[in-house]
Parts: sequence; structure tokens; C-alpha cells
Amino acid sequence: MAAEIREADAEQQQLLSELIERGMLVESGVPGVYGHSEAFGRVCDALERWLTAAGREAGAEVLRFPPLLPKVQLEKVGYLGNFPHLAGSVFSFEGDESQAAELAAHAAAHEDWSAALRQTDLTLVPAACYPVYPAIAARGPVPDEGVIIDVGPSWVFRHEPSFDPGRRQVFHMHELVHIGPSTTVLSWRNAWAERALALFIELGLNAWLAPASDPFFGRRGRMMAASQRAQELKLELLVSIAGPEPTACASFNHHLDHFSATFGLTLGADQPAHTACLGFGHERIVLALVRQHGYDLDAWPDQVRAILWPDEAR
Ligand code: AMP
Ligand code: ZN
Repeated sequence: MAAEIREADAEQQQLLSELIERGMLVESGVPGVYGHSEAFGRVCDALERWLTAAGREAGAEVLRFPPLLPKVQLEKVGYLGNFPHLAGSVFSFEGDESQAAELAAHAAAHEDWSAALRQTDLTLVPAACYPVYPAIAARGPVPDEGVIIDVGPSWVFRHEPSFDPGRRQVFHMHELVHIGPSTTVLSWRNAWAERALALFIELGLNAWLAPASDPFFGRRGRMMAASQRAQELKLELLVSIAGPEPTACASFNHHLDHFSATFGLTLGADQPAHTACLGFGHERIVLALVRQHGYDLDAWPDQVRAILWPDEAR
């Protein structure tokens, strides 16, 4: 059975065709999975440099993780209860010769070959920050002032196929994570939201911040989303790219003690920690910039180029 594809409106589909025609995106045959041109990559790299420098300035420790997550970690944080529709799980073949032949025959005929597979210990990473919490918890208590981790631009997967170029199944999410005292984690999150808004405005984008919620699954999920929104646990940095709704290009999330309770993260001996994370979606930010300033990067306003490529002679 083919995956259900989310509707995209005419403007979003038009933008996708334009990006492909101009070579900025390279089609794979599956909606939401694209290659990039050099120009697209240049903007991603520039965003990357800016975020890495900002993280370093804020005293962040750099950690990098692969785009696969032990499935037990996804289970522990309750992801399958909250977002079963977005998760990607790794299944592999472990059968005998005749089963291998059957698998190959199904595959060669482009038929369903999932019956021959077994679940492995791995899932795809749905958000760059997920590997951080158990990794820091494994070190023991966190210093009293907390820690900031720069997880860099991880590839993340979400099963949401769409012909909206802003909605991918696999994309780069650069995250910074703060694990620290409940008194400072929220102000850290808020200060970063303001800082990111200022950056977007300097980049010439018509952006604004708004409380938001995650796409929790089902009826229970609607209640969780309403509570998340009411408590302003999630802020999104929005830009109109294409279509009737603005697009979230970055998010600023306060998790209270959700991850710290799950993984036993404490400050000092037994002070409870809170956590927050910032997630920047590179591909969406590139789309926002291209929509605002056009396809020719060399023709972008000097002020924008000076932020993205400060070392280039003008
Ligand atoms: P979230 O964890 O949902 O708040 O996502 C963090 C950031 O990742 C968002 O603000 C977007 O910039 C980006 N993002 C989320 N979902 C997608 C998607 N399907 N395609 C492209 N970028 C996404
Ligand atoms: Zn996160």
C-alpha cells in the first residue's frame, strides 16, 4: 500500500516544481525526499556556521550523533504514544536462503517485501535532541549551572510525505539543548527565541513568534496539544513561504521535567533538572530566504550576504 500523501495547495506545488526546474532540489521519486544543488547547500552551510558560532559563544559543548536511535530510547520518551504516525523504524532481513529468494522476488516485482523482515533495535531519529538526554544522564549528575549541548545539523526523519516543499520526510534539524535549573531553562529558551527572531529580521525575512503545539496523534493528542499551547511550552518562528498557513522555520521548546524524569537527569546530588531545546530547520529557512530574495544568491541584499558569508569579499 502506498503511503498517504498530505495535500499541498497549488502555490506549494508550484514552488516545488520551480525549485526542481531550477535545479535547487533534485527529485527522488518519493515526495519529501530531495537532493540539493550547490547553491542550496551553500545557504545550509552558512546557517550551520552561524548557529555553531552562536552555540560556541554560549558555552555549548559540541556532540554529534548518527541519524539512528536505539528503539528503547524512543519507547522510553513515549514517542510511539504521542507520534506513532511520524516514527520510522528500521526492519532488516535475518531469514534463510529460501526466505531470501522470496524477498528478492517480491522486491524485483516491486511487491510488498515487508513480511520477510524483522524489527531491529533501531529507529530513525525524529528530532536531533533525542540522543542527548540519555547521553548526558549516563555521565551522572549535571553541574549545578547546567549544560548546553550543540547537536549540530542532524538528519532527522518524519513520516509525513507531501508535495509541499516545506514538508519533508528527511531534513536537517540543528538543535541546541539546555539541561539546567528550572529557574533559568525557561529564560534561556525565551532569550533564544528573541535572538532567532532578530536574526531572521536581519536576514530580511518577515518573521514572527507564536505559541504552537506538536502534532500529537488522535483525540488524546488534541488535548495534549491544547495544554502545550496554553502553557506556551512551544514557540515557533514563523515565515509565510507558500500556502495558506505560515511555516515554522525554528522552534523553541520547554519540556519541564519530561526528559529529566525519564532519564534521571539531576543537578548536583538530587536537584531536579528541567530541559529545553531549540530546533532550526535548515531546509525551511533556505526556502524562506529564496522566496524573499530570489534564486540568485549573488543578488541577495548585501546585509543578508554579510551575515551568511562574512568572509566573502564584496
Ligand atoms: P519541531 O521539532 O517539530 O518543532 O521541528 C523543529 C524544526 O524542524 C521546525 O521548526 C522546522 O523548521 C523543521 N521541520 C519540522 N518538520 C519538518 C518537515 N516535515 N520538513 C522540513 N522541516 C521540518
Ligand atoms: Zn529538541
